Amino acid sequence: MTPPLIELEGIRRSYRSGDVVTHALRGVGLSIHAGEFVAIIGASGSGKSTLMNIIGLMDRPSDGAYRFGGRDVATLNRDELAALRRGCFGFIFQNYHLIPTVSALGNVEMPAIHAGAPRAYRHRRATALLTRLGLANRITNRPSQLSGGQQQRVSIARALMNGGAVILADEPTGALDSKSGTEVLGILKKLACDGHTIILITHDSKVAAAAERIIRIEDGLIVSDSGPDPEKVSSSIAVAPWQASDSAPPLWTWLEEAARSAFAALAINPVRTALTLSGIVIGVASVVAMMAIGRGAQASYIERASAIGTNWIVVDRAGESTGNSLPLTPADAQAIKDMDNVSGSMPAMWDMATMRRGNIDLNTDVIATTSEFRTVHKWDMAKGTFFTKQDEVSGGPVVLLGATLASKLFPGIADPSGSNILINNLPFLVTGVLESKGLSERGTDRDKRAVMPLRTAAMRLFGKDDLSEIVVSIADMSRLHETKEAIKALLIRRHGREDFYIYDSASAFQKAEDERRSSNLLLSAIAAISMLVGGIGIMNIMLITVSERTREIGVRTAIGARTADILGQFLTEAVVLAAIGGVVGLLLGAVIGVGAALLFGMTVIFSVTMALGALLGAVVMGTVFGFMPAYRAARLKPIEALARG
Ligand code: ADP
Ligand code: MG
Repeated sequence: MTPPLIELEGIRRSYRSGDVVTHALRGVGLSIHAGEFVAIIGASGSGKSTLMNIIGLMDRPSDGAYRFGGRDVATLNRDELAALRRGCFGFIFQNYHLIPTVSALGNVEMPAIHAGAPRAYRHRRATALLTRLGLANRITNRPSQLSGGQQQRVSIARALMNGGAVILADEPTGALDSKSGTEVLGILKKLACDGHTIILITHDSKVAAAAERIIRIEDGLIVSDSGPDPEKVSSSIAVAPWQASDSAPPLWTWLEEAARSAFAALAINPVRTALTLSGIVIGVASVVAMMAIGRGAQASYIERASAIGTNWIVVDRAGESTGNSLPLTPADAQAIKDMDNVSGSMPAMWDMATMRRGNIDLNTDVIATTSEFRTVHKWDMAKGTFFTKQDEVSGGPVVLLGATLASKLFPGIADPSGSNILINNLPFLVTGVLESKGLSERGTDRDKRAVMPLRTAAMRLFGKDDLSEIVVSIADMSRLHETKEAIKALLIRRHGREDFYIYDSASAFQKAEDERRSSNLLLSAIAAISMLVGGIGIMNIMLITVSERTREIGVRTAIGARTADILGQFLTEAVVLAAIGGVVGLLLGAVIGVGAALLFGMTVIFSVTMALGALLGAVVMGTVFGFMPAYRAARLKPIEALARG
């Protein structure tokens, strides 16, 4: 004679809540052979569910021995019990306990996912089981789209997915109308005929009558047992002790599942999810956009500063509007030019003027200066010649055009030198075109300007000869500071007071560098804070998710999910959520950057490294802050999780 499949000896189970101890089972001894169809019947509160949870390895007895297939299960750890559950047991609950966000097919496949079965096999078997149970046309429906009887049939298919050698059904007809209830009992009978061991738990003797053997339980003790069919006992095949024939699901299955759950969570409550992800979105977007703008600003600053050269000092008039200062004059510029360590000193006067040629008419900046312009700006001619000493002295009506200006006034003409134009309605001779220098600091086109002698502008156009600035180039930058002080002293002597500003390229570069540093620091702080807020948001939403899906966790654990499966699922879900936030942040950052470029003409430089770094930061946040909720989910006890659901 073969040993029984299930052997219970003196099983006790007490619940303790505070000072109250409930003895749900008080010494249950029971043997069930493979292939039996047993009903356990008893009144509500008699201990049926407690017994089922112990037989199904979801709960451990307080005392007594349980041997399954001859093996003492007390020695098995959490994951070994899970393996035995998913390999040998199928559970059917009164309330079906289907996962609401997953289709009928997905629910049926679940035990096979945890057993690491390949996708194609899962699909085929789950479809076949659902078809066998009359649900062929319900495969893609969610549980909420199915009737109670249909949901219970889905849960029977799930119980059979990994074989379901032992089927534990706790009040399977309790929530069904009598027709569906009869159907379900019919299915269980058929499964018993096919060799499954069925343990049916009920308070209803009419339901229990479907079984071959009836065990009655009262107040935690067995009071009667109709006894096993002797034929079943003798024919009962020995069940090999459990072996780990399955494997952990591959990482991509986790990812796929987690991505699906994450999107389902998003879909169920998009506003809540969006708000929660906003920290990460803002963090990533600010890093990406600000870095792009910052790098762009720096690059255009360097471009601009090095276009004038890297060694300059600029003198500006102060208090011009109050009349409390003397104008800067060409004589001031000349005096500076004669100083030690000064390689060039360019007086400049700026104003707007109207250029006209034929029916082309445009307003543009005019720089009036001397031949020092070429030394100080290192600006050469592309075509034609610079204005002569003669023109400078006599104020001849000559003008040089920037490259853009030339192409606008003389479309299609390669070299306009020698042609005439009108400036403020006065005739001027174009003597040449300057080489192209590109955009200026304010994003204006430097090549749109016109250049002419100081005297010409003063006499013919502007009617004044006050300089706008003097740009000085320095020979030896190591003596910059002393030269600056000397210029200051010279001008104070000439003007009788300090009625001007002086600034230089070195301090301008330094200032730009300082600004960049402090804005980087600020930016890093903003990024860190919003990432932290984002991380806390992720933790928060994951905690909510875990508590909302406690029953799902219970169901998954019951059907054999490992601790690592649950941990992995929720952790990956947190990471997927964080990554979604990260990607949205990247897009938003890109939009802000492009917007800044288009609307404000800023130079923006995007960096792939920066973007990947920000995304990685978001993912790391998801992992760190997702761990606690995921761990909490993984440690839930299946019966408590199911009870809470
Ligand atoms: P049945 O399924 O037959 O209705 P149960 O096994 O659910 O009975 O419960 C048996 C007894 O144990 C009842 O008195 C019930 O109140 C108690 N009980 C069940 N689960 C718990 C629990 N988690 N904590 C405390 N008492 C419990
Ligand atoms: Mg019960």
